[in-house]
Amino acid sequence: MSYQVLARKWRPRAFDQVIGQEHVVRALSNALDQQRLHHAYLFTGTRGVGKTTLARIVAKALNCENGITSTPCGQCIACTEIDKGRFVDMLEVDAASNTQVDAMRDLLENAQYAPTVGRFKVYIIDEVHMLSRNAFNAMLKTLEEPPAHVKFILATTDPQKLPVTVLSRCLQFNLKQMSPTNVAGHLKSILEQESIPAEATALHLLARAAEGSMRDALSLLDQAIAYGIGSVREQEVRAMLGAIDQSYLFTLLESLIARDGVTLIKQVEAMEERSLSFDTALQDLATLLHQIALAQSVPEAIAADLPERPQILSLAQRISPEFAQLYYQIATLGRRDLSLAPDEFAGFSMTLLRMLAFAPSDQATVVVMAAPPSPPIAAAPPSPAYTSAASVQTTRAAPESAPTLTSKAELTEKLDTIRSVLQTATGFNGDWRSFVDSLKAGMTRSLAQNCELISHDAQTLVLSVKDAQKHMLTYQDMLKTALKERFGNLQIRIEIGAGTGNTPAAQISQEKAQRQAAAEEAIRNDPFIRDLAETFGASVNPSSIKPIQ
Ligand SMILES: [Zn+2]
Repeated sequence: MSYQVLARKWRPRAFDQVIGQEHVVRALSNALDQQRLHHAYLFTGTRGVGKTTLARIVAKALNCENGITSTPCGQCIACTEIDKGRFVDMLEVDAASNTQVDAMRDLLENAQYAPTVGRFKVYIIDEVHMLSRNAFNAMLKTLEEPPAHVKFILATTDPQKLPVTVLSRCLQFNLKQMSPTNVAGHLKSILEQESIPAEATALHLLARAAEGSMRDALSLLDQAIAYGIGSVREQEVRAMLGAIDQSYLFTLLESLIARDGVTLIKQVEAMEERSLSFDTALQDLATLLHQIALAQSVPEAIAADLPERPQILSLAQRISPEFAQLYYQIATLGRRDLSLAPDEFAGFSMTLLRMLAFAPSDQATVVVMAAPPSPPIAAAPPSPAYTSAASVQTTRAAPESAPTLTSKAELTEKLDTIRSVLQTATGFNGDWRSFVDSLKAGMTRSLAQNCELISHDAQTLVLSVKDAQKHMLTYQDMLKTALKERFGNLQIRIEIGAGTGNTPAAQISQEKAQRQAAAEEAIRNDPFIRDLAETFGASVNPSSIKPIQ
C-alpha cells in the first residue's frame, strides 16, 4: 500500500475541517447559504495557511450538483473531480509560472464560453501578485465586466503588490497565521486518527518549527514519523530539527535574572561545545520570552500540555513585564544581526550581554551612557559605545582598574615635571591653557581658569579677569607665585574686564557641551539603539547620556 503524505491525506475538504480560520469560514458560509455571490474573491495570508485549500472548497460550494451551498456533498462528480484537481470547469493557475501575458489572455478568452459541465467556471490564480502588468490588464478587462458564469478566486502572500484596480474588484479575506498551539492540537488529532503514538512535547516542537504553516507542520510530521520509525518522540524530533534543549534557555534566563554574567557566558560556551545552532537558540529564546509575556497577561494562553509550562509560569513571576518585552526585542534584533556578527558565538553572547546591560529605568526609558567619539587618552582601550548605569558603577568599583589609575596619575605627574622643567628653561611659551590644566585643583586653578591671556613677552604676562569674577583676585598672589615658580621671574599684571572672555573656563564648558552633543549623537546613531527605539518604542532620555571621561 503506497503511503500518502499527511498534508494531502488530511487536506480539509469541507469548511468545517478548516483549522484556525473561523472568521473567514463563517463569512464565506453565510454568503454562500444566502446566495450572496461575488464574482472575485481574494485570499491573502502567509504560505501554508490554506489559501488554495479554501479556494477549492469554495469551488465545490459553487459547483456541487446539490446546489450552491456552504456544505458541498463531497460525493457528486463535481465535488470529487474538484477534490482530485481535475474538474473541467476549474482552472488552477500558478501565476509564479504563468506571468506571460499571452497565457493569461488565452485563459481569459476562454472565460466567455459557458462552463462545460459545472454551474460556474472557476479560475483559481495562486500567487497572483506575480502576474506581469500586462497580464493584470488583461485580467482587469474580465474583472470589470465578468460573464455571470465566471468566478475568480485569487490567492496571494503579498497583496500589497496587487494593483489597486484589481484589489478594489475583489472581496478580500485575510487568512490568519496559525498559532503553534493550534497546529500542535491539529497534529495530535491527526495522529490519534492514524493510531501513531506521539509525545506532546514533540508535537509542540514541530508546530513551532512550522512557523504558522499547517502544510509545513504536516510535512515535518511526515519526516518525524519516518525518522522515529512509526512514532513521534521528543528526543528524535529535537535531533531532526536541530532544536536545542530548552534547559539551556532556562539557565540563560536564570543567569540574567541573577545578573550573573559568569554563568551566562559559561552556558554560551557549553552550547558552543555542543555545536548548537545559535540562530535556533535566539529563535527559541524569543519564543520562550513571548510565552513568558503571554503568561504574565493571559496565563490561560499557555497550553496545559506544554511541557515547559511550570518553568514558564515561574519565570513569568520573576521577570517584570518590561524586561520580558525588552529581552524579546533584543533577542529578535540579535537574531536579525547574527549574520553581521564576526561569528555566531560573538553575535549570540553580545545579544545576551545586551540583555544583561540594558535595564528599563523607572521612567521606562533606556538609560545609557556614551563615550565621546575620540577618547581623551589615546592609550586607553576603546570605551563601550553604551552601557547601563549599573554596569558603569560595577566598572568603577572593580579592583583591577585601580593599578591602572595609579600608574596613569604617576605618569601625568612625571610629564608635568618634565614640562615645567622645559618651560622654565625657555620661559612662558604662551600656552596658557596647558599651564592652567597642569595646576592642582584649588583656588589658584579656579582663578587661572577664569583668566584670559591678553599678551605676553619674555618679561611680562598680562591677564584679564571678567568684572563678575574680580572677587577671585583675592587669590592672585597665589597665582603669581605659581607662575614665577614655573616660568622664572615675570612681571604679572591682571586687568579687570578686558579681553574677549575666551578663558580656559569658557573653553572647558564649551568642550563639555560638545562632548555631550557628540555622546548624544553617538547614541542616537547607534543602529541598535535606533532599532530599539523604532521597534520597541523606547526613547533615549538625553539627560541620562553622560560622556565617559
Ligand atoms: Zn457535491
